[in-house]
Amino acid sequence: MIPTERIEAKYYKYKFHFVSFPEELYFLHGYINGNDIYINKNDSMELQSLTMIHEVVHAECDDGQDLTDHRPIKTGRAEFFADHIASRDVRRYLA
Ligand SMILES: [Zn+2]
Repeated sequence: MIPTERIEAKYYKYKFHFVSFPEELYFLHGYINGNDIYINKNDSMELQSLTMIHEVVHAECDDGQDLTDHRPIKTGRAEFFADHIASRDVRRYLA
């Protein structure tokens, strides 16, 4: 299996869509809407893999698990966290 397939198999709860984003959104690598995750299929395999995990981290962590506090992680922190986890975990799939 290629890395993106391995990540799909691991996170089977999500539906990954590999699409071309409009030209104006060339800078966008991924987008999440509920359990649907859209990945820019024109990116490299490494970047697609990284983006997949990045979006999964958002899905699983941004709302927080502490139900006594509904405040979402502030956007900047959420991005930093998602990037951190993704760059750590992606190595398992690219190996
Ligand atoms: Zn993000």
